[in-house]
Amino acid sequence: MLLTISTTHRPATDLGFLLHKHPERPQTFGLPFGQAHVFYPEASRELCRVALLVDVDPVGLVRRGSGAGSFALAEYVNDRPYAASSFMSVGLVNVFKTAMAGTCKERPELVGSAIPLEASLPAVPARGGESLVRGLFEPLGYSVDATPLQLDPQFPEWGEGRHVGLRLRAEVRLADLLNHLYVLLPVLDDDKHYWVDDTEIEKLMRRGEGWLGQHPERDLIVRRYLKHQAQLYHPAFAQLDETAPTADHGDDEEREEALEERVSLRDQRLGTVESVLEASGARRVLDLGCGSGALLARLMRAGYQEVVGVDVSVRSLERAARRLKLDTLSDDRRERIKLLHSPLTYRDKRLVGYDAAALVEVIEHLDPPRLAAAEQNVFGSARPGTVVVTTPNVEYNVRWETLPAGNLRHPDHRFEWTREEFAAWAQQVGTRHGYSARFIPVGPDDPEVGPPTQMAVFER
Ligand code: SAH
Repeated sequence: MLLTISTTHRPATDLGFLLHKHPERPQTFGLPFGQAHVFYPEASRELCRVALLVDVDPVGLVRRGSGAGSFALAEYVNDRPYAASSFMSVGLVNVFKTAMAGTCKERPELVGSAIPLEASLPAVPARGGESLVRGLFEPLGYSVDATPLQLDPQFPEWGEGRHVGLRLRAEVRLADLLNHLYVLLPVLDDDKHYWVDDTEIEKLMRRGEGWLGQHPERDLIVRRYLKHQAQLYHPAFAQLDETAPTADHGDDEEREEALEERVSLRDQRLGTVESVLEASGARRVLDLGCGSGALLARLMRAGYQEVVGVDVSVRSLERAARRLKLDTLSDDRRERIKLLHSPLTYRDKRLVGYDAAALVEVIEHLDPPRLAAAEQNVFGSARPGTVVVTTPNVEYNVRWETLPAGNLRHPDHRFEWTREEFAAWAQQVGTRHGYSARFIPVGPDDPEVGPPTQMAVFER
């Protein structure tokens, strides 16, 4: 199977730098299922074209037991050697890994620039036909030529098969083009030749960063990429939902931190949570939606037997790991702290059996159906003895000098509640799951509008 990429950027041979492959040196790479060859059919100042030829060994595949066909001959007679499928994606990451990561030491300024690129694939299996091909690539800015291929040009009466000849043209960053192809070729095929597990979610998030979350066909892409496996695509949707609205949670968290600095509300809040947890007598605690780990650090200092931070954002967990210096902790401290990557909106058995849980400034990030799902996971399934929940009191917003009227405190907040709304929610949750709820103000308790942060303490 063949992919060519060409550019008319000047000098066009810059393509060689971007790909880390010299135009004058053909190269061959071993793959688990065959070989990949890289060479340049054309390399002048005006036009440079690179070819990636992925040579699949179908007989070898059968011998290794990784071929799966519907009838015996299908193992030997199939489109695997010719049609650009997930084999091509594997070829891409093996051969162009550095380019896909968007790094280039020799020409750092080039990596970030959109240049005129044309990708051409003579045969792409496309379940969903030409219209899906357009639906996938046009929203990303490509002009698309998709030519349905006849099953056999010698027998035109047989009609067209499911393959198209594909040409994509755009001014894009090379790394983006490669990542788009990497994800979308197996999606078009609606198949993968290898077993998928949850490491595929991480690959999809990495390769889809910056475009997948906003793509109009997002749901189809995620479902097909993860081979229609619900236990994989639900967590993937949750991750995209949590990370899409704000490109970098870190900056927003910092903005929110700055806003609250005046009363060092954050400190008061974490201090109050800490005292409530301590008073509950808990030994093993969960911090659900732990973010970058400010509460975890306090709890570790306080000497709990086990502290578990849970978040849906990998970046936040990485920040937490740095803050807690996980890699240099002594063995006995290391055993007391765990970080789990898990969306609160899906039941997670690992959260069962703890004494207490804190959800500090988390619920307002969930829209109503997902809040209900998180409630079920925390109060219905995990069921710790004590649950501490904090959330902004929207009535107090009029007191923030730096907050324009009518605004919420954070761009990713789905809601901010009045004291009455929060109390009503907490009472219902208590009734549904057998918890009592009491309320504690956090921060200066304004006689008119109440405190900036409201806290509910649930006890089973
Ligand atoms: N508790 C921390 C962070 C609050 S910000 C603190 O007080 O500083 C909200 C956090 O909730 C973010 O880290 C976000 O990634 C996390 N979050 C949002 N939705 C989530 C979900 N469905 N599952 C798990 N974590 C979620």
